[in-house]
Amino acid sequence: MRREIFTEEHEMFRAQVRRFVESEIEPKIPEWNRAGMSDRESWRKMGAAGFLGPNAPVEYGGAGVDFIYDAIVVEELSRVRAHGLMMGLHSDICLPYLTSYGSDEQKKRYVPGAISGDVILAIAMTEPGTGSDLAAVQTTARREGDSYVLNGSKLFISNGQIADLIIVVAKTDPKAKPAHRGVSLILVDADAPGFVRGRKLDKLGFRGQDTSELFFEDCRVPAGNLLGREGNGFKMLMEKLQQERLTTAVGSLASARRCLDDTVVYTKQRRAFGQPIAAFQNTQFKLAEMATEVEVGQAFVDRCLAAHVRGDDIVTEVSMAKWWVTDLLKRVTSQCLQLHGGYGFMMEFPVATDYADAAVQSIYAGTNEIMKVIIARRMGLEPRE
Ligand SMILES: Cc1cc2nc3c(=O)[nH]c(=O)nc-3n(C[C@H](O)[C@H](O)[C@H](O)COP(=O)(O)OP(=O)(O)OC[C@H]3O[C@@H](n4cnc5c(N)ncnc54)[C@H](O)[C@@H]3O)c2cc1C
Repeated sequence: MRREIFTEEHEMFRAQVRRFVESEIEPKIPEWNRAGMSDRESWRKMGAAGFLGPNAPVEYGGAGVDFIYDAIVVEELSRVRAHGLMMGLHSDICLPYLTSYGSDEQKKRYVPGAISGDVILAIAMTEPGTGSDLAAVQTTARREGDSYVLNGSKLFISNGQIADLIIVVAKTDPKAKPAHRGVSLILVDADAPGFVRGRKLDKLGFRGQDTSELFFEDCRVPAGNLLGREGNGFKMLMEKLQQERLTTAVGSLASARRCLDDTVVYTKQRRAFGQPIAAFQNTQFKLAEMATEVEVGQAFVDRCLAAHVRGDDIVTEVSMAKWWVTDLLKRVTSQCLQLHGGYGFMMEFPVATDYADAAVQSIYAGTNEIMKVIIARRMGLEPRE
């Protein structure tokens, strides 16, 4: 079905992104998978082409266009399985913290580089002891004269090895009650004294992406690296979650569609009992069911995208989209793998990596259980003090 959220300009932009991604990015994926991380040159090429944060303000190097342009980039990268870049994390999750809450000085210092691909971004929330319960972070940022001194460790941080700037969630007031009022966001440059990158973690999926431990050992940064106001970190995180979850849903749906499309092709070619496996009714029903769910999901995601661009508060709806679409992706990749038979279990078939890559989507950007907690709370179902 024709998607109705795109103008002619959006479609032209998609054609441009697709050409670029197919020629410059897709060929790099095997190399990233071997190295366990992407390469800087690809980031810079993405930046030079104008594909990092098109939504960002013009005065700092962005194109100042609507978020649908960003969504198109996410879709096109997902379509070729370029998960190694975690571009959505950089452009649509991290960068908006800088453009929305950064001081003029911070914006001038970091945003142009983030848009050109010279300053790769990461956000460090999760710790060994806490993920979903963000207010329980133990990393501290103590004010000492003109500096903040950070201590603590972070875990599972995407772009952890390659990032140049990390937005760190830390407690500036560890005794605050309620705890979330003690949370602040601190910008840590990768060359800050006391910042140490730990292991690049060995993962089930997203093999071409660097997910890392990070350590802060009396890590000293200028006091001017505080983002927004002290104690306001949790509020800023909550405000930006809408776009983070929408980005996850957009990418996951594009991944589901690609996996399904490839499986349709495969089932027409593969033969058993003298006929293509696509001729079996079970194959047809499975593919028909998945195609239906992908279309239903797309209609909802597109409505969310349009509402997000309008500036509506759709936290409930994006939470719905995030859990439903990422669960759909897991169903689609699992069923498509089954339709590939033994070949589906072989890493040389993309469906095998699709299956492994899908697993994380229901875990990060807020687990799917947390999405349901949010929806229930917004339905007035959970009294909390
Ligand atoms: C590949 C990858 C990349 C990541 N990238 C980043 C990143 O860039 N930055 C970052 O900060 N983090 C990142 N994360 C971490 C991710 O956001 C966390 O793993 C996630 O938020 C869950 O936290 P946790 O792992 O501590 O699980 P836990 O919070 O321990 O949860 C364990 C289980 O308990 C459930 N649970 C927890 N609380 C509730 C509740 N109230 N009700 C019902 N069920 C509940 C969860 O849903 C889950 O099923 C990444 C993780 C992975 C795997």
